[in-house]
Amino acid sequence: MTYQAFLIKYSEIGVKGKNRYVFEDALVHQIKRALDRVEGNFTVKKQSGRVFIAVDGEYDFDETIDALQHVFGISAICPTVVVPDEGFDAMADAVIKYIDEEFEDKNFTFKVMGRRANKKYPMTSMEVASEIGARLLDAFPEMKVDVHHPDKMINVEVRENIAIYCTEIPGPHGMPVGTAGKAMLLLSGGIDSPVAGYMIAKRGVKLSATYFHAPPYTSEQAKQKVVDLAKLVAKYSGPIDLHIVNFTDIQLYIYQNCSHEELTIIMRRYMMRLAEHFAKENDCLGLVTGESIGQVASQTMQSLNCTNAVCTLPVYRPLIAFDKQDIIDISEKIDTYETSILPYEDCCTIFVAKHPVTKPKLEAIEKHEHNLDEKIDELMKEAIESVEVIRCR
Ligand code: ATP
Ligand code: MG
Repeated sequence: MTYQAFLIKYSEIGVKGKNRYVFEDALVHQIKRALDRVEGNFTVKKQSGRVFIAVDGEYDFDETIDALQHVFGISAICPTVVVPDEGFDAMADAVIKYIDEEFEDKNFTFKVMGRRANKKYPMTSMEVASEIGARLLDAFPEMKVDVHHPDKMINVEVRENIAIYCTEIPGPHGMPVGTAGKAMLLLSGGIDSPVAGYMIAKRGVKLSATYFHAPPYTSEQAKQKVVDLAKLVAKYSGPIDLHIVNFTDIQLYIYQNCSHEELTIIMRRYMMRLAEHFAKENDCLGLVTGESIGQVASQTMQSLNCTNAVCTLPVYRPLIAFDKQDIIDISEKIDTYETSILPYEDCCTIFVAKHPVTKPKLEAIEKHEHNLDEKIDELMKEAIESVEVIRCR
């Protein structure tokens, strides 16, 4: 059966009180943006606690569902039959026709859920449910009522029109992007940071991103991989401005002037400083990383304390308490895993020490960074001025 409408359910948005319209409007906006990529004539509008999508003419059902499953804020997508309100008999006939077309085999249990958003309607929700149930039993004697554990929940919602649906396809949940400010994601080519970006975007946050590359030590392919990852995250978060920073000279300078055991920590501190510069330039309210306690030497509590100390903006680390396998599971679900595991080198691994410090002391690191006083400001300035920004969508 072909559907010409979808009813969109949303969860958390419902509890936003007076600001609710802000969330609903953002959701409608994001749905329109997602459907722009799908061929078809879609109309999206709000209607008493729901969002309705109408489709005029032909469209690809699977592509439409896929696009909607990338819109945060949607808890369920219900392919829906919409008929005009022309009295109870017409409504009952429409439900019978729908069930007949949708389910060839009628050997199932069901329950009818009536919902009357239009309070002027002459029947209550309960009356709608029980009367429709009776008509269905007349029409299809194989069907049985089970109000506790029905195989199928048949929903009939009465508003300006009558909406009939049975299937709820899960959405990605979360909050619509654009309802919670913007953050700067430190995006590497690894598994973790794309997942971190996805998770923050899921709370309604817009993303910008920074990638540090070190040509000729890191290749064009390594950079392309990060662009590809940004595009995959952007399917959920909307367009991401990816700042590509040439980190080579800073990295070499640290390598030449600091102890190799502390190289990674000092390098990470410069990454944070630079990312924060671009964050502030782009009105971001925080930084986002894919760090998780204890995963590597630079992510012990002591190391995180040292990297964190250079930041004035809050640093959001959504994976902080996640095991690697849990992160991998999400990256597979959001389709970044296969790209993340492509074998291109990362600037962090190029100059990595055999025995990096795992318990760095902040005072010592701060002191040793003074070895860089002569040229580091100039190198930072050059890195900032030579940034390349790619819009990933
Ligand atoms: P990931 O899988 O995200 O690369 P990781 O386990 O390799 O993480 P690190 O290399 O210690 O861990 O990096 C920790 C975090 O620092 C990353 O999650 C990312 O947010 C940021 N980061 C690391 N390298 C880069 C880079 N080259 N460009 C931008 N951000 C980076
Ligand atoms: Mg990495």
